[in-house]
Amino acid sequence: MDLPPTLLYPLTTFIGLCLGSFLNVVIARLPVMLMRGWRAEAREALELPEEHNEPFNLLTPRSMCPACEAPIAWHDNIPVIGWLKRHGRCANCNARISPQYPLVELAGGALALAVVALFGATWQGLFVLGACLALLAMAVVDLRTQLLPDSLTLPLLWAGLLYQLLFQPLMLPSAVIGAMAGYLVLWGFYWAFKLITGKEGMGYGDFKLLAALGAWMGWQTLPLLLILSAGVGAVLGILIQLAVPRLRGAPMPFGPYLALAGWITLLAGEPLMGHYLALVGF
Ligand SMILES: [Zn+2]
Repeated sequence: MDLPPTLLYPLTTFIGLCLGSFLNVVIARLPVMLMRGWRAEAREALELPEEHNEPFNLLTPRSMCPACEAPIAWHDNIPVIGWLKRHGRCANCNARISPQYPLVELAGGALALAVVALFGATWQGLFVLGACLALLAMAVVDLRTQLLPDSLTLPLLWAGLLYQLLFQPLMLPSAVIGAMAGYLVLWGFYWAFKLITGKEGMGYGDFKLLAALGAWMGWQTLPLLLILSAGVGAVLGILIQLAVPRLRGAPMPFGPYLALAGWITLLAGEPLMGHYLALVGF
């Protein structure tokens, strides 16, 4: 597409804000849909009668206030502006609406702007934006529920292999090794940590997420991804625990740090890898 930047950048940012708004739906509903699925499977295994629930998926019911279930008018559902206009409160019952909603929308807009600035309006950019937004959904779902659903991590992995096949086929072997090594490295850490301390430091979703990032960026980026996520995780973990003492000792999800490392490496990977390789002496 040959749009002038004065049109392209605002337009892409707006699309990113709207995609962020859709991610809010995924973030709120996917864990509930998973729980329902698990309940239904468990009831079936225990030979209990089926539960009859109202249909609940990403499309039904329409978006509503989490507190009073009043439907949200379209003009209150405009990304960021809707939330600001109502001062973060429901128009019907005045309950507080979490700032997570505008923040995820803003993050969607910022990611879209960054991707179009770096990749232009290209198919490759569209793939990278998809990966960045999937990482955003996973980071927030993991923060809220300590879950990294397979329905997000595994498609990201397949999409990463497809991305390499389409755009950098010579990188495909590196991507396949990256996916396997990404999984194995964290699996190894997990078991070593468990044998030494008797505690579980991570979950299997983290292994799958690093496998997906390995597929998107090749095995060469795995050390960088680990250094970034562990480094940011350590610094932020300490800051959060200092700022909010009641979180001391609470389990911290690792997924958001992996997602952050994924964004940095997807968007600024090449210059970063250059510095990193120079640093370790290549
Ligand atoms: Zn309400």
